Amino acid sequence: MMSGFSRSRAVGVLAAAALLTATAACGSGSGSAQTATTASGAAGGKPEVVAAFYPLQWLTEQVGGSDATVTGLTAPGVEPHDLELSIQQVTELKDAALTVYIKGIQPAVDDAVDAEKSFDAATAVTTIPAGEHAEEEGHAEEEHGHEELSYDPHLWLDPSRLATVATKLGERLATADPAHAQGYRDRAAKTAATLGTLDQEFTQGLSTCKTKTLVTAHEAFGYLADRYKLKQVGITLDPETEPSPTRLSEVAKLAKAEGVTTIFTESLVSPKVAEVLASQVGAKTAVLDPLEGKPSGDYLSAMRDNLKTLQTALGCTA
Ligand SMILES: [Zn+2]
Repeated sequence: MMSGFSRSRAVGVLAAAALLTATAACGSGSGSAQTATTASGAAGGKPEVVAAFYPLQWLTEQVGGSDATVTGLTAPGVEPHDLELSIQQVTELKDAALTVYIKGIQPAVDDAVDAEKSFDAATAVTTIPAGEHAEEEGHAEEEHGHEELSYDPHLWLDPSRLATVATKLGERLATADPAHAQGYRDRAAKTAATLGTLDQEFTQGLSTCKTKTLVTAHEAFGYLADRYKLKQVGITLDPETEPSPTRLSEVAKLAKAEGVTTIFTESLVSPKVAEVLASQVGAKTAVLDPLEGKPSGDYLSAMRDNLKTLQTALGCTA
C-alpha cells in the first residue's frame, strides 16, 4: 500500500499545521487523509519524484508534467553504472514520494530505495535474459556489473517497452497523487503514443538491411536487437570491464564472418577498445548512444539519431 507523500524542502512554504499532518502521516502508514492535502495545487504540495538516471528522468518528466517535481539522481556526463550516492542523495531518495529506477543498473540505488515508495521499470515489461557471455567470463568487478541479474536491465532502448513503462508509471503516479490522476493518465497515454510512433519508425527503418549484426562497446542494446530482430555482439557486458584477449578475438572473428562494417562506440565510454577491434577487422567506428546519460537533445532525438546511424552501418534501404 502507498503511504502518503513525505514532505521535503518545498514544504517549508506550507502552514505548520500541514507539516504536522504530513509528519504524522509518515509514521502512520495510512495514506488517504494526507494525499488529499496535496490537492491544494500549491507548488509546495507537488510530489517529489526522483528518477535514477536519464531515460527514466525523461519519461518521468513527460508523465509527471506540471503535477510533479522530478529530480534526476545521475548528473549529466556520469556513467550511471558508476553512480555512488552522497548522503544528501540518500536523504533525497528517502524523502521522495516516489523513486523511479531499474533494478540492476545502479547497485547504489538498488540498496537505497524504499520498496514501498519506488517503481522498478523492469517489473513493468517482459524482460530478456542477461547478456549471453555473462556466465562464461568471470568478471572482476562484480559489484558494478549486471552479473547477478538474470535479466538485461537496459529496457529503455526498446521504445515499445518504454511505452508500456509510461502507461504503468502513469497509473502509479495516479495512485500516489489521486487529485491529479487524470493528468498523469493523459500524459502517460500521450507519451506512450509518441513512443509508439518512434517504434514504428524503427520497425520500418530496420526492416531491410544488409547485415543484422550489431557489434557494440557494451551490451546495452539487447532490447533494441530483440525488438527489431537484430543480433547484438557486445565486446563487454558492462562499461567498466576490460575485455579479455579471448573475448576480443572471438568478437573479431564473428564481425568478419558477419560482414560487419561498423563497430559501435558510446558517448560515455572510451572508444579505445572498439577502435582497436575496428582496425583489426577493417571496419569503421560510429557512436551509438545507449542513452545511459543525457544526450545533447532528448530521448526521442537521440533515438532518431541512433536509427540513422544504424541504417547507415547496417546498410538498410528502407
Ligand atoms: Zn549499461
